[in-house]
Amino acid sequence: MWPLFALVLGLAVGSFLNVVVHRLPRGESLAFPPSRCPHCGHRLGPLDLVPVLSYLALRGRCRYCGHPISPRYPVVEALTGGLFLLASLFYPPGVEAFLVFLFLAFLVALAFIDLDTFELPDPLTYGLLFLGLLASWALGFPLPFRESLDGSLMAAGGLGLVAGYGNLFLRRFREGRAEVPVGPHQVHMAALFGALLGPGVGMALAFLAWALSARTGRPVVLPDRLTLPLLPLALLLAPTLGLSFLEALRGSLLAAGGLALAGGLYWAFRPYPEEEEEPVALGYGDVKLLGALGAWLGLYAFLALFLGVFAGALFGLLFRQRKLPFGPYLALGGVVALFFGEALWEAYLRLLGL
Ligand SMILES: [Zn+2]
Repeated sequence: MWPLFALVLGLAVGSFLNVVVHRLPRGESLAFPPSRCPHCGHRLGPLDLVPVLSYLALRGRCRYCGHPISPRYPVVEALTGGLFLLASLFYPPGVEAFLVFLFLAFLVALAFIDLDTFELPDPLTYGLLFLGLLASWALGFPLPFRESLDGSLMAAGGLGLVAGYGNLFLRRFREGRAEVPVGPHQVHMAALFGALLGPGVGMALAFLAWALSARTGRPVVLPDRLTLPLLPLALLLAPTLGLSFLEALRGSLLAAGGLALAGGLYWAFRPYPEEEEEPVALGYGDVKLLGALGAWLGLYAFLALFLGVFAGALFGLLFRQRKLPFGPYLALGGVVALFFGEALWEAYLRLLGL
């Protein structure tokens, strides 16, 4: 009964996610107006909106104008139904199962919005992140709170740094424009100071640079050409300061993640919306999504990242796609890591003979 219930619930939620994917990027209300045929504008009745079945019964055409309906709609519904069904096999009926349903629903919406728009909307990435933190804090599920918080910061910090190094190499070590008051420069500073002085001090110094930038209206930062090359050096030299390499790495990722997620939140709610060029900080969509995965998966978010990179590279090679959004692959990695993360990790350790 429970798997059947989960399947039907998933199909219904998938139908709602179609609305979210279509309307959220346009800033339209999710509740109003009722669904209409995008071609003829005829209002759709209950019989036109039965997940998957309506599409099959109508043979993929609008009942009123005969215009073909995108197969995307039944695909999203069937995918969500299938994922909820899978979750029901892992989790018995209860609060935990419903939290997992929410996790899956957020990821489906994010994946398809990224496919359409190459953007991961802040309400969804931060919504998923705070939901994971809140549930961990209140229920100890999906993780003990500390693991959820650390996982979120370290995952976001890790991908933020990967992006930083990637950009530095792409620019051939020319210095990028520093965002005022906060941008990737502060993230890289936080990583360097966090490695040497611990996550708390690392974050505090970077927040100080942020505050000074806000105060003076010009970037108060160390150049990326300095902070990024010094970071690996700092990690290697950490043992001479009485820190283990892993402690230094942890401090670095925590501090970088704190700045990346706080900076992203600032840009999401910045007080004066300007119609100028999008700041670099807004390009952190994948970083925020991985931070959200960290809040749910802890350090298994890095497995999700690895799986996402692997799946994306494979898909890119197979279909010779150049410009691909990364969000769908991260979401896929997140789903696999949620259900099979531990099993995969243990299989990998056995493979190494550990
Ligand atoms: Zn129509």
